[in-house]
Amino acid sequence: MKMLSILGSTGSIGVSTLEIVAAYPDRFKIVALTAGKNLELFARQIRQFAPAIAAVASPDDIPRLQALCPGLDVTILGGEEGLIAAATATDTEMVVAAIVGAAGLVPTAAAIRAGKDIALANKETLVTAGRLFMDMVAEYGVKLYPVDSEHSAVFQSIEGHRSQDISKIILTASGGPFLNTPVQQLAQVTVADALNHPNWSMGKKISIDSATMMNKGLEVIEARWLFNVPVEKIDVNIHPQSIIHSMVEYIDGCVIAQLGSPDMKAPIAYALSYPERVATGVQPLDLTTFSGLTFFKPDTEKFRCLELAYRAMGEGESMPAVMNAANEIAVECFLEGRIGFIQIATIIEETMNAHHAHPLASIEEVLQADLWGREMAREICLKQVN
Ligand code: NAD
Ligand code: MG
Repeated sequence: MKMLSILGSTGSIGVSTLEIVAAYPDRFKIVALTAGKNLELFARQIRQFAPAIAAVASPDDIPRLQALCPGLDVTILGGEEGLIAAATATDTEMVVAAIVGAAGLVPTAAAIRAGKDIALANKETLVTAGRLFMDMVAEYGVKLYPVDSEHSAVFQSIEGHRSQDISKIILTASGGPFLNTPVQQLAQVTVADALNHPNWSMGKKISIDSATMMNKGLEVIEARWLFNVPVEKIDVNIHPQSIIHSMVEYIDGCVIAQLGSPDMKAPIAYALSYPERVATGVQPLDLTTFSGLTFFKPDTEKFRCLELAYRAMGEGESMPAVMNAANEIAVECFLEGRIGFIQIATIIEETMNAHHAHPLASIEEVLQADLWGREMAREICLKQVN
C-alpha cells in the first residue's frame, strides 16, 4: 500500500491521479489532499477518499470547507502552513506535486525535506529552482518521478542507460492550437481559441502555455534539471499527432522513444506505481489508424516564448524564475482579457530585459526573484494596457 498526499487534487492532474487511486484501492491510500478554489469538488473528494488532512490554499476558505464536510473525520487546514502539513504528513510516502505555478514551490520543497518521494507534475518548481531542488533530492535521498508526459517518456527511454551515453534529448510538442495559424493572425486570437488544445485536456494556465509554446520552453528547463543534460543537447520537434511523447538519442546513433495515446493517466500511473505498471484504461495505440506521424522544427519567430526560455536558461541563475513569474502574470492578464495573445511574449521579454541575473542560494531567494518578476511584469502589463 502506497500512502499519498496530492497537492492540487482538484486540478486536471489531481483529478486524473484520484481516478487511478480509486481504481486501485489495494495499492494506494490518500493521506492528505490540497486544493485552491473549487471547494465543492474538494469536499466530494474528501468524502470519497477520506484523507486525514485536507488543506485549502486560503485560510479564509476553512469555514466554508468545514461547512461542506459535516461529520467527516478530517483535519481541515489552510494557507501555506496547511499545504506544508499535507505535504509532510507522517504517513505519506509519496507526494504528487500537481499545484500549478510557483505556488507549488514551498510545499514541494517541504515534502523533499521530510523525505517524501515526489511525483512531479508542477514543472514550474524545476524552472524556478531546478538546481536547489535537485540538490535537495540528492541530499534527502528521495526519488523524483516525472509526471509530465514528455519527461515520463524520457525517463522510460533512459532506463538502464548511462547519462554520458546520451547525445540528445528530443522533446516532442504538439504545436498547440495555433500551429497552423499565420503569425499575422495571432494578434486577433481569443482566450477561447487559445484554450482549445487539439490533443490534451488540461488546466487553463498550461493550456495557454501550450498555445504560446512557453510550455515547451518550461519543459526544456525541466528536462535539463531532471536528467542533468545541458540545454544545448535538448531539442524540440513539433509532432502534431502527440503519439511519440519524446525521444532520447544515444552516441551510437540509436534513438529510443516512448509512444502512446495522449492521456495523462499513463505517465501519472507510471510515476505512482514505478517500477511496476498498472492498467490505466488509456486507449491502446493502433498505429495503423494514423495516416502518418510527422515531425518538424518549431517556428521560433512565431513562438517567441520558446526562444525566451532558452535565453533564460542560457543566462541561468535567477533568470528562469523571473521568466516564469512574468509568464504567470502575462497568462493571467491574457485570461482576464486585459492583453492580447502576442503581448504575452512581449511582457516576458521586457521583464527579462529589466532583470540582471544573480545566483539563488535558497528557496527564499527564489521566492524573492519570483516576486520581483511578478511586480515588474504587472507594471509592464499595465503600460501595455494603457
Ligand atoms: P489546474 O489548474 O487544473 O490545477 C491546479 C491545482 O492547483 C488545482 O487543484 C488548484 O486548486 C491548485 N492551485 C492553484 N493555485 C494554487 C495556489 N496558489 N495554492 C495552492 N493550490 C493552488 O492545473 P493542471 O493542468 O492540473 O496542472 C498542474 C501542474 O501540472 C502544472 O504545473 C502543469 O504545468 C503540470 N502539468 C499538467 C498537465 C496536464 O495535462 N494538465 C500535463 C503536464 C504537466
Ligand atoms: Mg508536457
